[in-house]
Amino acid sequence: NLYRHLERKYQLLSSPLPAFAYEYGGVEAAGGERANAAIVVLARNSDVDDVVHTLRTFESTFNARYRYPYVFLNDKPWTYEFRSRITDFISRKRGGDNKPDVRFGQIPAAHWSYPSHVNQTKAHQCMQAMKKAGVPYAAVESYHHMCRFQSGFFYKHELLREFEWYWRLEPDVDYLCPLHYDPFQYMATHGKRYGFNILAPEFMATIPSLTSTLKSYMSTHHITSPPPTLQLMWNTTTDSYNGLHFWSNFEIGSLTWLRSSEYQRFFNHLDATGNFYYERWGDAPIHSVAAGMLLKPDEIHYFEEIGYRHGDRVHCPQVKQVEGVYGPCGCDLDRLKTTWVKWGVWAYKDHWGRELERWREWAAKWQ
Ligand code: GDP
Ligand code: MN
Repeated sequence: NLYRHLERKYQLLSSPLPAFAYEYGGVEAAGGERANAAIVVLARNSDVDDVVHTLRTFESTFNARYRYPYVFLNDKPWTYEFRSRITDFISRKRGGDNKPDVRFGQIPAAHWSYPSHVNQTKAHQCMQAMKKAGVPYAAVESYHHMCRFQSGFFYKHELLREFEWYWRLEPDVDYLCPLHYDPFQYMATHGKRYGFNILAPEFMATIPSLTSTLKSYMSTHHITSPPPTLQLMWNTTTDSYNGLHFWSNFEIGSLTWLRSSEYQRFFNHLDATGNFYYERWGDAPIHSVAAGMLLKPDEIHYFEEIGYRHGDRVHCPQVKQVEGVYGPCGCDLDRLKTTWVKWGVWAYKDHWGRELERWREWAAKWQ
């Protein structure tokens, strides 16, 4: 019921957006220059409606003009229905483009299963115990595989081999504002390697031993104190990770960074603990602490002007949009406050106030 209500709201808010998108002829209109980038979507066949929902605003706010290729990944074979609905939808969104670049891949079993060093009996016991303690998704085995895959494997998929950049898309998202530039090119020309638009606090029961694992990584690699970027998410009083993370269902990042030996070494150190299964480490805190440990402060970018809604969370930009050609942003914070909040939506400004505050303080010092 609540979901239905929100759906209707979002439809209303995003309905003024699509018109402008059809007027642009893709790459040409976008300036001719493109980055070597792909839009990456991990999904199940059953997610098809929610994926179409995401494509609706993603195409009209951005990709109908830029036409970056889509790469869809699934641990199971894609159905004909999924493939044709996605391709047809994109084609229709672009006014009948009969060759949208959409690729469908299956994930190798080795990237979506227990590694041999994990004791599966112990894993199942831990999952049940976490479930009893109220940890979200604790006993959903596939969710653990998914988090590990997103943390350490997606960028190795053969369909992504040719690309240097990725933009992660999830089912059930609204992009709320027209984008008047190419974020990939922004990243490339400004030396960025990881971009986010929402900060969130983690449910600490999912990562009880992440701090000690980070410390053992640091001592192995002779890092004497948390590096500058990690300080963003470090509690100096308790000397531990504070759970602040880039909410990873939106991310624009460098595949080259993820494929680097530094990132591999970092991921392997974490994976060796088995805690993607014994605990419920999510890919969001893992990407975040990896960025914290391995990236320089100015390699991280806050895409503040990318308005976004996923599940019940919203990022409504405060920055002024370029009006005119691209139309106004469909995200109206006053409206959010008076209507969505009433219905239980965690409006960005209320819920992420503290996290954003911390980011601003940190960025003022380091960026
Ligand atoms: P949440 O955002 O953390 O609540 O988790 P979601 O259920 O949205 O899952 C995150 C992403 O992983 C989404 O893109 C899902 O489609 C995808 N996903 C989750 N579980 C599976 C699975 O078992 N198979 C596949 N192929 N995708 C999955
Ligand atoms: Mn999701």
